[in-house]
Amino acid sequence: MGKILGIIGGGQLGMMIAEAAKKMPEHISKIIVVDPTKNCPAAQVGAEQIVADYKDKDAIEDLANKSDIITYEIESGDSNVLKSVEKYAEINPSPETLRIIQDKFLQKSFLKENNIPVPEFVEIDNIEDIKKSLDEFGYPALLKARRDAYDGRGNYKIDSKDEVQKAFDYFKGQSLLLEKFVPFKMEVSVIASRNTKGQIKTYPLVENIHEENILRETIAPARVSSKVTEKAEKIASQTMDVLKGAGVFGIEMFVTQDDEIVINEIAPRVHNSGHHTLESSETSQFEQHLRAILGLELGSTKLLHHTIMYNILGNKSFQGKYKPLKINDENLFLKMYGKEISKPMRKLGHFNLVSSNNETIKELLEKLDGIKPRAAVQSV
Ligand code: AMP
Repeated sequence: MGKILGIIGGGQLGMMIAEAAKKMPEHISKIIVVDPTKNCPAAQVGAEQIVADYKDKDAIEDLANKSDIITYEIESGDSNVLKSVEKYAEINPSPETLRIIQDKFLQKSFLKENNIPVPEFVEIDNIEDIKKSLDEFGYPALLKARRDAYDGRGNYKIDSKDEVQKAFDYFKGQSLLLEKFVPFKMEVSVIASRNTKGQIKTYPLVENIHEENILRETIAPARVSSKVTEKAEKIASQTMDVLKGAGVFGIEMFVTQDDEIVINEIAPRVHNSGHHTLESSETSQFEQHLRAILGLELGSTKLLHHTIMYNILGNKSFQGKYKPLKINDENLFLKMYGKEISKPMRKLGHFNLVSSNNETIKELLEKLDGIKPRAAVQSV
């Protein structure tokens, strides 16, 4: 008999985990998600839904009582609440791993203690700490919220002394850290997996292009030397080894001007930069995540085709109902997430442009340029 899988969060990531779970009926018999939006994307593909906030204690207890195994698609869950329900259901990645990762200061301290390269950083308690550290780091530097920050929303770049007060006020009393600015050559990531038995596998290094701090394109594989790729994949494996949590993790990194790798941040969940695996690889990151948390042998992570993932984002000057996109193109795999309302830069879907004839990344990028105008979301 398959297990009942609980997922905290039923957005696009929960939806794609649910779709992968439905293809494994011998291991998973039912899927239940907790999500505050009625008829969330995961519910649209057959998951039962508990309509509640991700941090709602009663809802999480309800989910734990109904599930055999729990995972999550967001890192902002309450790790204490999760710890308290571990007696009812197995939780992967573990609440302890989540506690470390969801606090950027604890996460970076943990990595540094384990000799994994991160940008220089320091804990900030007051404005004097910022001034003192800026004297050391120089400008620019990034002031970051320790918790509940994603898609760049929790960052403030300080370019000069005049901006210190404004940056400090921006965070309104949140816990903070200050980080040295890394003048990176490229942003890259590794989707890494570790199963409950300790087996570790990484997908090949990919390149990420952002627009206003939101991921826009992922290029698989990254256009870097094999030396850089090897270095990044090794760091990702080491990270998984020390973190110990089971599941798929998205490890975001910078390639520095002299081809060194530093970790920017880790997401303890399937990751937007791994969506290409749906078509580029034998095992998608969603199936891999399930294999990892169920303690199954991990699948192949080999990249079978050059692929570019392109995010369909909400129009910057429009909010409301929108026309569902239909793009038909050879070797283009479109996935819309079923969200009713478009908001500026909201992730509404993505497509994977897959090389069929061993086209180079350069050729795929040229093809993508021709498709982009059709990929803009319109109001109804
Ligand atoms: P984050 O939300 O912390 O991942 O940051 C969002 C974006 O800000 C990253 O994708 C980078 O483009 C940029 N960023 C974050 N930290 C640094 C840093 N230390 N140096 C340079 N750019 C950074």
